Amino acid sequence: ADRAGDVDQAGGGAGIHRGREAVFIGGAWRPAATDGTIDVVNPATEQVIGRVPAGTAQDVDAAVTAARAALPGWAATPPDERAAVLGAARDLLAARREEIAATVSAELGAPMAFATAVHADLPTAVMASYAELAAAHPFEERVGNSRVLQEPVGVVGAITPWNYPLHQIVAKVAPALAAGCTVVLKPAEDTPLVAQLFTDILAAAGLPAGVFNLVTGLGPVAGQALAEHPGVDLVSFTGSTAVGRQIGATAGAAVKRVALELGGKSANVILPGADLARAVNVGLANVFANSGQTCSAWTRILVDAARYDEAVAIATASAAKYVPGDRLGPVVNAKQRDRVRGYIRRGVDEGARIVAGGPDAPEGLEAGYYVRPTVFADVEPAMAIAQEEIFGPVVVMIRYEDEEDALRIANGTVYGLAGAVWGADEESAVAFARRMDTGQVDINGGRFNPQAPFGGYKQSGVGRELGAHGLAEYLQTKSLQF
Ligand code: NAD
Repeated sequence: ADRAGDVDQAGGGAGIHRGREAVFIGGAWRPAATDGTIDVVNPATEQVIGRVPAGTAQDVDAAVTAARAALPGWAATPPDERAAVLGAARDLLAARREEIAATVSAELGAPMAFATAVHADLPTAVMASYAELAAAHPFEERVGNSRVLQEPVGVVGAITPWNYPLHQIVAKVAPALAAGCTVVLKPAEDTPLVAQLFTDILAAAGLPAGVFNLVTGLGPVAGQALAEHPGVDLVSFTGSTAVGRQIGATAGAAVKRVALELGGKSANVILPGADLARAVNVGLANVFANSGQTCSAWTRILVDAARYDEAVAIATASAAKYVPGDRLGPVVNAKQRDRVRGYIRRGVDEGARIVAGGPDAPEGLEAGYYVRPTVFADVEPAMAIAQEEIFGPVVVMIRYEDEEDALRIANGTVYGLAGAVWGADEESAVAFARRMDTGQVDINGGRFNPQAPFGGYKQSGVGRELGAHGLAEYLQTKSLQF
């Protein structure tokens, strides 16, 4: 990987983006203010695959200055012109699908099929959705004797995690740009390569200089500098609850807008009349996809006592299909691997029963941060493994007595991000879903919808992403009275 970075075709197939030792500020790649760098490691091989700058407060300050200078021009650009740039970005995302998938596969360790179908295609769909919304959204409306203007909030500081590296970025940047905001992005230090690739795509799509700026770096350095910068009008953060709490407090003290997308411990509620095998099999697929590193994953399976043993047997058989290294990728780094395995040991100590997987290293793999796909049975709702976000391929199965008991258990965590309900018919599942304290529920399966709002009840966060609700986060209203 030379300093100009770019694509490396050496491995055959689609090239991956190896990283540039530069930050992107005011429309140009340039060296960071200081020399520090971050090595990017492939979690499946433990090999260094790229290097990016460890940006500091100086870089963040320069980026915020550039974003502020570009704000009046972009805010005044007609929405359909902003939409045209987002449409061009969508086309480029689609055209560079293979390269995006290969890059995310390398920096996250995701199997190529999943990297292509989800890590590359999801953000493309979200970008398409915002290209449409930017053109169609009523930025001005008459309400009685008033005209209500929806104006961009201003400069956005976006801080994103590694679990869906490009999706998390696009879910913030696309609505921000559609709204007329300018952006400084601090992507996760584990997965900065696809962030650089995306930066090239935005520039090639014709985004004016300074509207989007990228500073790679460490969370407590570059991330914190961005969250605390007085020139940032809105901080949009996705990541851990601990950091989200801190960012929320900082934003509160400065009275600035904040959006927080935090953790989850979502319930997969299988009602008595539901198709048990389908609910369990799809449920496991939902958790083991991305090696359990999905904030909305249905990590708690709730089954009625009468069918509990049958459900456990189905899950045990199903888990065996997720062979680490083949269908199941590694987790992102050694720290996460040790944390997830620590939770598995804790579940055993708490008295839960392992029916698949376990805390040991999977057999036959010489390298990589792999965790065995693990299913716990005989789990009590109060156990740590049933309350805390593990963020690895671990599912807990909890027995319930009746629907009221199921509802108490489903709602009995500090989180409320997502969930699933399976019923004999749609109406009974919807009736249960209405009583769940959570931001999104899949009914008898469900399919991703880039226009449906996504975000948390309770401690899963503040604000919504995707669709018109996601756009509203980046707008503020002004009324003119006549
Ligand atoms: P994290 O919250 O530390 O990192 C998320 C982002 O915030 C990264 O870009 C990071 O650099 C930045 N950051 C870290 N400290 C910061 C600070 N003080 N100020 C500003 N920005 C800061 O998350 P993590 O350590 O990568 O993962 C830990 C846990 O977080 C996971 O095990 C999981 O439970 C949770 N998580 C949740 C999501 C989600 O989508 N909700 C995503 C990733 C991780």
